[in-house]
Amino acid sequence: MTTTTRPTTRKKTGALTFSTRSAALKDVFARSREYADLNAILGLLGWDQQTQMAMGANGVRGEQLATMEAILHEKMTSPKLAKALTKAEALLAADPERYSDADRAQVRELRRNHDHAMKLPEEFVKAFSVATSQGWETWQRARAAKDFSMFAPALTHIVDLTRQKAQYLNPTGDPYAALFDEFEPGMPLAEAERALDALRTATVQLLKRVQAAPQIDNSLLKGDFADDQQMALSRTLLGVLGYEFDHGRLDLAAHPFEQSIGSPYDARVTTRVHRDDVVSCLMSVMHECGHALYEQGIDPAIARTILANGTSSAIHESQSRTWENIIGRSEPFWRAHFGKVQAAFPATFASVQVADFVRAINRSEASLIRVEADELTYNLHIIIRFEIERALFAGTIEVKDLPQIWNQKYQDYLGITPPDDSVGVMQDVHWSAGLFGYFPTYSLGNIWSAQFAAKLRHDYPDLDTRLAAGETAFIREWQREKLHRWGKVYEGHELGQRAAGEPINPDYLIAYLTTKYEQLYGLK
Ligand code: ZN
Repeated sequence: MTTTTRPTTRKKTGALTFSTRSAALKDVFARSREYADLNAILGLLGWDQQTQMAMGANGVRGEQLATMEAILHEKMTSPKLAKALTKAEALLAADPERYSDADRAQVRELRRNHDHAMKLPEEFVKAFSVATSQGWETWQRARAAKDFSMFAPALTHIVDLTRQKAQYLNPTGDPYAALFDEFEPGMPLAEAERALDALRTATVQLLKRVQAAPQIDNSLLKGDFADDQQMALSRTLLGVLGYEFDHGRLDLAAHPFEQSIGSPYDARVTTRVHRDDVVSCLMSVMHECGHALYEQGIDPAIARTILANGTSSAIHESQSRTWENIIGRSEPFWRAHFGKVQAAFPATFASVQVADFVRAINRSEASLIRVEADELTYNLHIIIRFEIERALFAGTIEVKDLPQIWNQKYQDYLGITPPDDSVGVMQDVHWSAGLFGYFPTYSLGNIWSAQFAAKLRHDYPDLDTRLAAGETAFIREWQREKLHRWGKVYEGHELGQRAAGEPINPDYLIAYLTTKYEQLYGLK
């Protein structure tokens, strides 16, 4: 262990202080505060809608959210903000030495939001909102009917509007790059594409070897798991991972999510429970906890500013995946904590060995549904969507061809074919909501998570011994220092590079998956 690299918590650094030496910077800071507060209130309304709100209030809550969004939009398009930004940018450019990274980032993020809001005409935003809310309804009906042709016209309209949106955002560039940039600002699409291509090639090869080996028996995971016991165990696990209940809470939700309501002071998590499956709940909890630890780790020096959230979708996902997969599916971790699972559910687990439990929760099987996929096959689900989105916005394929292309890729990469489109091309909500360019960030997060884990292991060569002894705080502290505390001060790809010591590189994830699955399936 290298004690010298062990981080001290929350030290003040110049990089995170704001300059208010001029009226323009003071104004920018005040607007950054307003943005953060309004955004937190929106988050609270959304969290409440999904966890506590009475069903009968859904309509009025939709209106309330729209009103809040309109206020935020008005603030972001204000000519006064434009003036303050122009002045602030001139100050920063004239004398860069005088200003901190936080000063630059705050101006950069407000500029990004302002430009984004200005580039999309109000009429267009309305049309897009109508198309996606209708698209969502149509998607639900088409999925229930297992009939893609019902959804195709709505999806074609949404794709056309999204292409138009890309055109507004970047009139001369690659439309898909403009969409990707909304979630992963600053990261070149070509860099992401290279990483995902390499990951696909390696994963398809490794999966073929896994599929040729005898399958792991996971029947030991079957049991009857009472809801309140699952929730109690979830709370215990959150505590183990270092989740601060003073700054958050755990609730049930149909689809697990994490919601920041003013980081680092309030970052909430949710999970779901299935009566016959406790692992799904535990993995969801660790996943959402990873997101929440990121938000709880934001440095208070940048709280209540536009910088006080995780920097990008991929970096956020890297934190959830670290806790869910790299730690949460590792044997050393469960050596310390499997006893808690046994104590909660003795009828199922009292006589189960920890090594067998870990093998069972790591079983890999090509399946149709992304959200139920294991650690190895998950990225193939993402890469299929990425390749299809890429081709759709390059104009080389059309919406009507999607089911056939989808099924072919599932056959080519995973060796399975969906029996119908409800478990194929129509399984995810994203496209009906006009969300294109988001999927790749899931796998980019996995790639970063392996890079960070390699770096962590370099700093703590006794990582496994510590995990097996029940220690996790040192990991959270490492993440805080290298990643969490910085919020949006650095863009995702820059922060990732600072923490990992190099740009995004799929080799670490490929090596991690190869070693792990060769061992699990006795492939050597
Ligand atoms: Zn996530």
